[in-house]
Amino acid sequence: MKHLELIPMNEWLPGLNQPLVIAGPCSAETEEQLLATARQLKALNKVSAIRAGIWKPRTRPGEFEGIGSEGLKWLIQAKKETGLPVTVEVATARHAEEALKAGVDILWIGARTTVNPFSVQEVADALKGVDIPVLIKNPVNPDLQLWIGAIERIYGAGIRKIAAIHRGFSSFKKTSFRNEPMFDVAIGLKTHFPELPVICDPSHICGNRELIPFISQRALDLDMQGLMIESHITPDLAWTDAKQQVTPDALGTIIDHLTLRKPES
Ligand code: PEP
Ligand code: MN
Repeated sequence: MKHLELIPMNEWLPGLNQPLVIAGPCSAETEEQLLATARQLKALNKVSAIRAGIWKPRTRPGEFEGIGSEGLKWLIQAKKETGLPVTVEVATARHAEEALKAGVDILWIGARTTVNPFSVQEVADALKGVDIPVLIKNPVNPDLQLWIGAIERIYGAGIRKIAAIHRGFSSFKKTSFRNEPMFDVAIGLKTHFPELPVICDPSHICGNRELIPFISQRALDLDMQGLMIESHITPDLAWTDAKQQVTPDALGTIIDHLTLRKPES
């Protein structure tokens, strides 16, 4: 166990309402789609930050690989219009440099990047001396050491605003989930780094919108400190992850039905 000297998450990403929610489309598709989604999410008054992928690491080639750097302008416009911080996935030094230059507020490292120490180190090196929050998703496979290693690499670059994102694990077993929750791995991370905030991403765990309320509640019951949920104005028409995205309105309903764990007396 190693002690991390972290800046508490509520100092760099305050929850408007409990729980803390980061939401937005899986992918930025067009400026209109991103801005319309961002405006509706802002109107809920329950979302703390807007997410959107612009560089999409697809498992297999031939599908939409993200709009690329052009999407940075849209994200910054979404930030201007809503006043909410924006976050994007970065997988290379160039992504990190471009996102920083554009004024993105928070970076996240995706599950397909966390598996590769060279890639994580490359991003970490690009962030040396930079004060920006970084969210680190678990690796696709249930390897706690890889997850810990990625966190150590980002911490080693001097980043002190860090949270982990639990997005479930790939498995050969057929289950109801796209990625098995295996919450015990996230609990293992919390045991290793007790001061590290862990956020749950029910969207990539579930793979379908129906299970999202259940997994979101499980995450809160396990004391996870927030949720990252994919939201799109027209989910069925989404270019990526259509089945698991929810409209901003549906997201509002999901949040309203969550029960927060009462602090122990
Ligand atoms: C995403 O957040 O859209 C994404 C690609 O997630 P993951 O890295 O968890 O697969
Ligand atoms: Mn996605």
